[in-house]
Amino acid sequence: MVVKARLAQRYVTSETVCQICGGEVENIMHVFFNCNYAVDIWRYSDFGDLLNDAPADSFLMRWRWLREKINNADLLKIDALLWASWRCRNLHIFEHTQPNAVMLAANYSNWVADHMLYAAKLSCQPHRTAEGSIVLAATKSVASSTPECLERKLFVLH
Ligand SMILES: [Zn+2]
Repeated sequence: MVVKARLAQRYVTSETVCQICGGEVENIMHVFFNCNYAVDIWRYSDFGDLLNDAPADSFLMRWRWLREKINNADLLKIDALLWASWRCRNLHIFEHTQPNAVMLAANYSNWVADHMLYAAKLSCQPHRTAEGSIVLAATKSVASSTPECLERKLFVLH
């Protein structure tokens, strides 16, 4: 994920102001939590109050704090909402649309919930990597999948 602050560090651009709101430097924290679309998403989520207490200095600090505070199921919900924020930003910038952030986030959240239900039925549970990322069953490598799980995934793909 490349934001303007990172591009400026790499001398790709000297412009760092967010092109959606024009109010702050476009960095990861801004895009995921403080820009217009993200604010809408978190306001209507179950995590708004929690995030008010979360560290705001860096995404990494916030993510580590969240890992200590909430369970994997809620982390997956937050992943979906972060993804929704990023998708809204990209739709706005690259496709010149103004998506309904709350609806898009709700759809992503439902998609993740459906996936989790589906994965539970297949006994292919999400797992956490050593770095702390959560990997959904559908993205597990073939080598780590059981033959039954792989067979079912292939069935679904066709
Ligand atoms: Zn912004």
